Amino acid sequence: MQQFLQKLKTQPMMSGTSTGQAFWHSSAVEGDDSLLKSYSPVDGQLLAEVYPTTAEDYDKVVQIAQAAFLKWRSVPAPKRGEIIRQMGEQFRLYKKDLGTLVSYEMGKSLQEGLGEVQEIIDICDFAVGQSRQLYGLTMHSERADHRMYEQWHPLGVVGIISAFNFPVAVWSWNAMLAWVCGNVCIWKPSEKTPLTALACQQIIKDVLERNDVPEGVSCLITGGREAGSWLTEDPRIALVSATGSTRMGKAVAQTVAGRLGRYLLELGGNNAIIVSQYADLNVAIPAIVFGAVGTAGQRCTSTRRLIIHESIYEDVKNRLVKAYGQLRIGNPLDEKNHVGPLIDPSAVAAYQSALFQIKEQGGRLLIDGEMLEGPGFESGCYVRPAIAEMPAQTEIVQHETFAPILYLLKYRSLDEAIALQNGVPQGLSSAVFTLNLREAEQFLSAAGSDCGIANVNIGTSGAEIGGAFGGEKETGGGRESGSDAWKAYMRRQTNTINYGTSLPLAQGIKFEI
Ligand code: NAD
Repeated sequence: MQQFLQKLKTQPMMSGTSTGQAFWHSSAVEGDDSLLKSYSPVDGQLLAEVYPTTAEDYDKVVQIAQAAFLKWRSVPAPKRGEIIRQMGEQFRLYKKDLGTLVSYEMGKSLQEGLGEVQEIIDICDFAVGQSRQLYGLTMHSERADHRMYEQWHPLGVVGIISAFNFPVAVWSWNAMLAWVCGNVCIWKPSEKTPLTALACQQIIKDVLERNDVPEGVSCLITGGREAGSWLTEDPRIALVSATGSTRMGKAVAQTVAGRLGRYLLELGGNNAIIVSQYADLNVAIPAIVFGAVGTAGQRCTSTRRLIIHESIYEDVKNRLVKAYGQLRIGNPLDEKNHVGPLIDPSAVAAYQSALFQIKEQGGRLLIDGEMLEGPGFESGCYVRPAIAEMPAQTEIVQHETFAPILYLLKYRSLDEAIALQNGVPQGLSSAVFTLNLREAEQFLSAAGSDCGIANVNIGTSGAEIGGAFGGEKETGGGRESGSDAWKAYMRRQTNTINYGTSLPLAQGIKFEI
């Protein structure tokens, strides 16, 4: 990884992606607080300092992007797909380096870091196929000698705002599809993980240059909330695709709707697994533990609530406590460890506050959480995954705490379990573990889970790119990645062609002159 970091430092960025300014600053500038500092939660080291984009630079980036769109939109979609195919090849080459950097900058396990790069590769492959399948329908006209059909055209400049927990994959879900659809992209990554974003731009740079892709097709701006709001307020940004907290999504939605722009939101989840008395617990328990502690509970699809049938409650509880006792917490780059750090000290504070509220709201901690100290935990970001028995879905259970805290609830009937599962403001991912066909079908029916993702005998986290990804209610309603998610990046046009010698009007209206 060191060589890779060195390469990032020494190679200039494409000017269109950085407006000519060097983003990377290798050593601290005394007294310069304006730089974005990327600290690794793994060991607390300062990884990099990055120049935040200025308002002036932002304006230049948008102009360059707009100019690039005029050319890119006319490149045939399969040719755009071929360029994405080459990007996929490039990410294959850099999978280990980028995956390691994701793990080091964000704190997820090395396997998950590599998995995130694999998602980029997979969506590249998907987008290549999609580039030949931007289908519109044809319709039969009610008028003689007329033909009707619809076409899908690109939108223009797509702004991508991403969260820290999937620092690169979420960008690729958006960018690869947006590009094959003929759009250009401006990416504003999380201010907590700017380095992995710079690395992605660097990795695709050769492909863009080799193919003479107009400068500005792939743009990057760095900064925090303010930089994000430039995109949301700017009428030149045709679509804002934003991934992050519900708080952020509400602000983005209001601003973009205020200018009647388009938005696509992927926001917080509060995901539950129902464990039925008919569950195969040998399948369920690993799924629950991975869902609850994987990425230290910092996935939008992390398992946060467990709704357990009363007849097996004690058994499930005991198995979970035993499994948690075997968890190894530590450096995520060491493959022996199961749980890495939280992203930063403010996330640790939110976790501690949630533990306090659990007790205040009548919860009982089966495994109490704590911040870990001592050798290996110097960053101050490592915490013990906790399990809490709750008397009901109290306020804290309704809230997404982005940390490894699992709430246990009991149920008697499946109707009651489904009502509990749906009884939170968020609607991202859900699952039932049962071998009973009726239960499984009820859970998947219109009267079942109200989430965007509903699984049977699979946990809540770990979606594949082939399906449309996203959720309902406060999760924002957006869909990304597979299925027909590409349509969000295009505008639909209905075309009617008259190849006859008269002018019949629709609905039989007569108009004679
Ligand atoms: P966050 O909301 O703090 O920040 C996300 C991004 O939004 C960052 O780039 C940030 O700079 C930007 N931002 C914040 N406020 C903004 C504003 N008012 N206008 C424009 N941009 C703004 O979220 P986070 O802590 O980075 O990520 C964790 C959250 O993301 C969790 O809630 C998680 O569930 C959610 N998430 C959802 C999905 C999904 O697909 N549903 C995927 C990953 C993460």
